[in-house]
Amino acid sequence: MKSLSIALTFALQICISPLIADPATTPPPLPVDKGGIVLTFDDRNFSEWIAALPLFEKYGVKATFYISGAIDQSALDTALKLKEHGHAIGCHSIHHLSAVKYSVAHSAQDYVEKEVQPQLKAFKAAGIMPSSFAYPMSSNNKTTDEALLKIFHHIRTGAGIAAGQRISDKDAFFVATDQIAAHGCLYGKGIDYAPDRKDRTYEQIDAALARAAKEKRIIVLYAHRIATGGKGHHISPTALEHIFQSAKKLHLPFYTVDQLP
Ligand SMILES: [Zn+2]
Repeated sequence: MKSLSIALTFALQICISPLIADPATTPPPLPVDKGGIVLTFDDRNFSEWIAALPLFEKYGVKATFYISGAIDQSALDTALKLKEHGHAIGCHSIHHLSAVKYSVAHSAQDYVEKEVQPQLKAFKAAGIMPSSFAYPMSSNNKTTDEALLKIFHHIRTGAGIAAGQRISDKDAFFVATDQIAAHGCLYGKGIDYAPDRKDRTYEQIDAALARAAKEKRIIVLYAHRIATGGKGHHISPTALEHIFQSAKKLHLPFYTVDQLP
């Protein structure tokens, strides 16, 4: 009987092992007496992300990088290097399609199987366990959220603000630290091109960080390339440094998505 129970326990551990975090990489629990910033970057901007490591290091900032496309050698080399520096890796799908359109044409389960599982499998084979997913083009709905939250702890989508609205006025961007575990799907605010767009001036961003600090809330930000110009969505190192300095003044820490409960 005892050996049967041991065998059952062992079988159960095998079944649930992908859900158990690796103790070696498990971060300390999130202090609930403080808010924080979850900074995320998307797609495959590998060389720019790696080039920005010293900037992250200078401020002790840990970010989350959502990789799209095949998890090939360059994706794995980048992911492992970022992880080595304390950053987290998430899935961003194989073909960067709209999850909503795909699930309407096929099914949400199909989307997970074809667009997400191959990435997860390749990451896991390399010892990387992504706990989160970011929607391409912030295309999500209840059906896609439910399907993805079966395999991820958190999923990130995006939201904008209405003309004349302020980031700090939009409650969806601010989740109380002790409520974050109940929020599988997190709404991020885009910060590419900051401070040159009205919805992401330094004044707007600083006010949003001040609210997160004052009300002990988590705010999620997202960007893509880290560059001063060129093709594709990007944020400059100068703008990133401004955000890092504002956070430091507010004593507002940065968390990876993997650190969220
Ligand atoms: Zn993307």
